[in-house]
Amino acid sequence: MTNKDEKRISPVPLSQVSIDAGFWAERQAANRQRTIPAIYGKLEETGRIKAWSMARTHDMPKERSVVHMFWDSDTGKWLESVAYSLATHPDPELQAQADALIDAVAGAQQDDGYLNTYFPVLDPESKWANLRDWHELYNAGHLIEAAVAYHQATGNRKLLDVLVRFAEHIDATFGADDNKRRGYPGHPELELALVRLYRETGQGKWLDLASYFIEERGHEPHYFDIEAANRGENREDFWAQTYRYCQAHAPLREHTEANGHSVRACYLYAGIADVALETGDDDLLRLSRLLWDDLTQKQMYIHGGVGPSHSNEGFTFAYDMPDETAYAETCAAIALAFWAHRMFHLDPDSRYIDIMERAIYNSSLSGLSFSGDQFFYANPLAAYPGVNPMGRWSGIIDQGHYRRVDWYFCPCCPPNISRLIASIGEYSYSQAGSRVYAQLYHDNKVALNIDGQTLTLTQNTSYPWDEAIQFTVETSEPLSFELALRIPDWCYDYDLSVNGERMDAALDRGYAVLSRHWAHGDKVELTLAMPVERVMPHANIRQTAGQIALQRGPLVYCLEEVDNGPRLANIVIPPDAPMEATFDSELFGGVSVITGPGLRIEPADESAALYRHHSQTRYNETEFTFKAIPYYLWANRNPGEMRAWIRSS
Ligand SMILES: [Zn+2]
Repeated sequence: MTNKDEKRISPVPLSQVSIDAGFWAERQAANRQRTIPAIYGKLEETGRIKAWSMARTHDMPKERSVVHMFWDSDTGKWLESVAYSLATHPDPELQAQADALIDAVAGAQQDDGYLNTYFPVLDPESKWANLRDWHELYNAGHLIEAAVAYHQATGNRKLLDVLVRFAEHIDATFGADDNKRRGYPGHPELELALVRLYRETGQGKWLDLASYFIEERGHEPHYFDIEAANRGENREDFWAQTYRYCQAHAPLREHTEANGHSVRACYLYAGIADVALETGDDDLLRLSRLLWDDLTQKQMYIHGGVGPSHSNEGFTFAYDMPDETAYAETCAAIALAFWAHRMFHLDPDSRYIDIMERAIYNSSLSGLSFSGDQFFYANPLAAYPGVNPMGRWSGIIDQGHYRRVDWYFCPCCPPNISRLIASIGEYSYSQAGSRVYAQLYHDNKVALNIDGQTLTLTQNTSYPWDEAIQFTVETSEPLSFELALRIPDWCYDYDLSVNGERMDAALDRGYAVLSRHWAHGDKVELTLAMPVERVMPHANIRQTAGQIALQRGPLVYCLEEVDNGPRLANIVIPPDAPMEATFDSELFGGVSVITGPGLRIEPADESAALYRHHSQTRYNETEFTFKAIPYYLWANRNPGEMRAWIRSS
């Protein structure tokens, strides 16, 4: 190990983190028992499994679309989720199902290494003809991620070998050399996948290829213009009208703000952070910080969702935060969590993990029903009958209400939330030499290796419902190490003690660092005060003026009609209203709810004129007790209104 490696911070692999009880154990059980089988069922039903036998012509819907060109990515994400699940919960039956699918994927590979279920069967002349729209490189990225994860989990390298051959084909086809095309993915994802492949294989060419894709993006003459000309089209014919849509309007090093399609953006920025970490390129680090600050300080919803508009599935402009029509795609929140995790390892500061936690616990988790088999694509901050945040995509409103469904025509989100939940252990700890970072708080046990000595750290907590977190050290020999505990940005008051003795640890970039010679049985008690917080929005967000949101710990809360009656916009939580968090063991297996005195402000006369002079306006004020539930759990009971931003006067 070199000196540089000793200082380098890496995630503690999920295979070392056992999650057998608590919040994430329940979510992972639902993922294993319902989400993973449900998604496989849909992959089968829609022809995606059969497609690997090159049988597309039999199952192809009449109307072809770009979505049919990225079916392979759905397989990739499902296999990746299965890999993470197998890493911690062996399941021979599930593994056999995945192995059979991998055999089919391997059978679909062309002699030259090319791998895709659409083009060879339905449009062989158009291979690599439209990188801007047709997602072949995006599919490759998801399949590479699956291959790396599956190899790590099972030791089976069949899929990895297949994807290395595909990556070699891509490397031979695209690049800066004269004999190659200067293309890059229209939908980024492959960049971060190639860095994973580099880390898995140790082959520098995959890092070089990731770097090439990042450096080439947006340069003139523009590759998307060149390939459009080859198809007899020009730039003006691009349906999205601007290359901002795919972050290719200018070379990346010239970008100053988050642009375009939000999932593409966050995958791309995650890839940039990965390359910056591996190459030590300070300019890429500065670019990453610049984009991070713009996105998280001007373009992010309170629930960690990003991309308010359905028209480009992405960003609009600073402080634009519509609530009812918030697109805030589940995949975008997940991609933001991925990026945040990488930013921490590039620039170790808790502020990145704070955002990661926000995105995971709120607008990522809301993408999945409590039952584990229904999904949200858009994650609005308010819901009213007839309002569809999916905009142009119809057919998802149930009896007038936007609800989760069991599948989407474009089903990118379901397997994405599945793989995030299955891999939550990967986000729980990081380590640099003899410093261990505790990132996410939840019941678990982590096996660590510090200077060649093994150690187990047991974390007991009912977080995010409870404030108390306890760590217990199990070690055969006493040893020295640093335990760096993240003090979340939402926490203004915390207590820390070791073996009952109160500690005043100075914060180091957001972490309380305990540096000690630890012995078996040592106990750390961390209490993160979780009062109900009344969160004020930035004054420039026009859509939330005069409103507050409720947050407790990492969870954003919301009102639902089923608890509070209709017309949630008429509800006021006065500034001085005392609020209480109580644990409701009957609701969703046990969650904390927030209650307090609210006012319902209704017109005194329903038949009054729509608009009239101020002096003639009369309202009735009714006191009542409001009840708020965690946002991620909305839409799991009777359909109705929902609202996260609430009037405060
Ligand atoms: Zn999605």
